[in-house]
Amino acid sequence: MNIKQRLLSIKESLPENVNLVAVSKTKSNDDILEAYQAGQRVFGENKVQEMVDKWEQLPKDIQWHMIGHLQRNKVKYMASFVSLIHGVDSLKLLKEINKQALKVERVIPCLLQVHIADEETKFGLTSQELDELLNSDTFKKLKAIKVVGLMGMATFTQDTKQIEQEFRYLNSIFESLKSTHTKADNLELTVRSMGMSGDFKIAIQCGSTMVRIGSHIFGSRNYN
Ligand SMILES: *Cc1c(COP(=O)(O)O)cnc(C)c1O
Repeated sequence: MNIKQRLLSIKESLPENVNLVAVSKTKSNDDILEAYQAGQRVFGENKVQEMVDKWEQLPKDIQWHMIGHLQRNKVKYMASFVSLIHGVDSLKLLKEINKQALKVERVIPCLLQVHIADEETKFGLTSQELDELLNSDTFKKLKAIKVVGLMGMATFTQDTKQIEQEFRYLNSIFESLKSTHTKADNLELTVRSMGMSGDFKIAIQCGSTMVRIGSHIFGSRNYN
């Protein structure tokens, strides 16, 4: 199967309320255009410079999602065009996104990353940190960002029971935040970004509304 066929078969398998982010990191413009021509408009990248280059070179109706771990000093390069930032894991980073968004007179949608995996290497906030962040006066003053949901990455394991538990945990945090934090101009929880090529079917069973799929669409990545 080629990129177009793989993309369409994944899209067909997704429930209507689940959005697909085609993760195009390390992939060429030609590969992205093949997916674009099959109707895909949302692409995910994990490096700011690579995303900026692709944004410059590719059709302007593509929505670019930043899915990687983000350094504060890089936010400025994408503030004018990024359509969703998935991996926000500190108030400091949120403040910087707000600052850069003000400069370009936008409101930038963000997801807060939750630490759900049994791995030290994965980033994210604990449920208590999330609560503290959303309750802080600093957060309440940020008007150029909007937290629209949560993002999480499960442990890299063959143990599907464990993956399921971790995604269910994210979903339960989502529900509890939704019930304890009233909707505000900068907070409206709707998105649960969870699930990658290897585990998106489990994620959907656990309440995912946004899956981030790379290798199942574009083939395996070569890092050189
Ligand atoms: C690379 C990446 C993905 C996609 O991974 P695949 O296994 O290729 O589908 C999803 N989410 C994040 C945060 C990633 O870095």
